[in-house]
Amino acid sequence: MNNLHPEKDSLVHRPIAWHVTHWSQDIYCQGAYSTLLPGGTPAHRAALGECLGGRLVIAGEACNPKAPAMVHGAWDDGIRAANLAVRAGARRVIVIGAGCAGLGASRHLRAQGIDCVVLEARERIGGRTHSLQLGPVTVDVGAAWLQQFADNALAREAERLGLRLVGTDFSQPLAAASDGPVDGVDAAWEALRRGIDRRLPLAEGVERYLAALEPAEARATRYAIDGNLIIEACLPLVELSVESLDEDGVGNNDHFLPGGYSQVVDHLATGLDIRLGQPATRIDWQGGEVRVNDERGDFCICTVPLGVLKTLQFVPELPQPQQDAMAHLGMGTLEKVVLQFEERWWPRSPTGYLRWYDTPASWVEWLDLTDAVGKPTVAGLIAADAVERQFSGRNDEEIALAARDALQAWACAVEATL
Ligand SMILES: Cc1cc2nc3c(=O)[nH]c(=O)nc-3n(C[C@H](O)[C@H](O)[C@H](O)COP(=O)(O)OP(=O)(O)OC[C@H]3O[C@@H](n4cnc5c(N)ncnc54)[C@H](O)[C@@H]3O)c2cc1C
Repeated sequence: MNNLHPEKDSLVHRPIAWHVTHWSQDIYCQGAYSTLLPGGTPAHRAALGECLGGRLVIAGEACNPKAPAMVHGAWDDGIRAANLAVRAGARRVIVIGAGCAGLGASRHLRAQGIDCVVLEARERIGGRTHSLQLGPVTVDVGAAWLQQFADNALAREAERLGLRLVGTDFSQPLAAASDGPVDGVDAAWEALRRGIDRRLPLAEGVERYLAALEPAEARATRYAIDGNLIIEACLPLVELSVESLDEDGVGNNDHFLPGGYSQVVDHLATGLDIRLGQPATRIDWQGGEVRVNDERGDFCICTVPLGVLKTLQFVPELPQPQQDAMAHLGMGTLEKVVLQFEERWWPRSPTGYLRWYDTPASWVEWLDLTDAVGKPTVAGLIAADAVERQFSGRNDEEIALAARDALQAWACAVEATL
């Protein structure tokens, strides 16, 4: 392990390749994934996905109260929507979006012998799953983990395909903080969830809770909020529901695919009628049929991300319960950087999982992919208002180098404790 000297090493530890995501700027996404806004509950997710008029269903990760913001949750929700189409007696279904929800819906309908066309805005399928080449390595710039592994239909598919899977233990990060040794974050998180006054808006409840703590406990709690809540729910506290404390995220025996998520997605899309480069802007569901672009059907399953859903024109408008649901759900901001180096210069985490507690928060979560992919490569995640702080006024190279600086600061802090 090198001795790290921040000024000198910022020149030495220059990535040889990098990728920076901009999901929030992506017009076919408009954020990373759905999250509960103040007053929002999982019931709003279920309401958004109700069958409307026997011919329209909104589906996707945002509508799944059991596995929101997750790929397999999107897949399951697509199948739920397809079952509603079957029950409604649909003969020709228009599916909007070829992410995992749209693919799940379309495959299920095809299997029942129902005619189905998928309209996808982009020139590729997969939506928020997307694998790219970075040098010799395949990396995922969207979803990377098969979460809730035991109860994940896509994990079963990956196993059936014989794909290589690598487990990540999120409970054992190699963690460091910018202001000295860090301890007790997990206990602080559990104490916060038990002790916070849930009748208050989240930000106010947190503020009151912190005010009653000793400084060391308050510090651990702030880091727990950054590492367990904000990086998952992806908005600042004032924009989140208190129920965000309970929405499931990573930590259920998650596995990632060193060969990329697209291996699963491409396989699941085989044989489907998918039309690329077909952005839908207007869904006309009045009368007995549904019209989207030049397509006509008797049922429509709309799986565009929530951020896009809020911009679509529905004729007639969506009913009040669905409008209310949309008002209580928002898109979170989460971006990823993947950095590749000639050599691994940072300390090894036994689990491959790293956390960096900075004030204010920056690149909180890192996965060291090196052992899995055979080339020194790390992926860092940043969420909520930290994105603006780290991205604003910088090009991708500058963002990548700022992320590298955070990794280097983490490495220095870890070294200092060894
Ligand atoms: C950085 C990042 C990391 C993540 N990490 C994980 C993870 O590790 N594990 C996990 O389970 N989940 C993760 N997620 C969440 C996961 O990617 C999503 O929950 C899931 O992929 C959503 O699937 P979907 O089918 O609902 O939506 P999408 O995949 O977004 O599919 C919707 C499709 O609709 C298309 N579309 C948009 N607008 C239109 C239009 N007007 N007309 C036609 N088509 C349109 C889009 O192009 C897209 O293909 C992550 C997300 C991000 C951004």
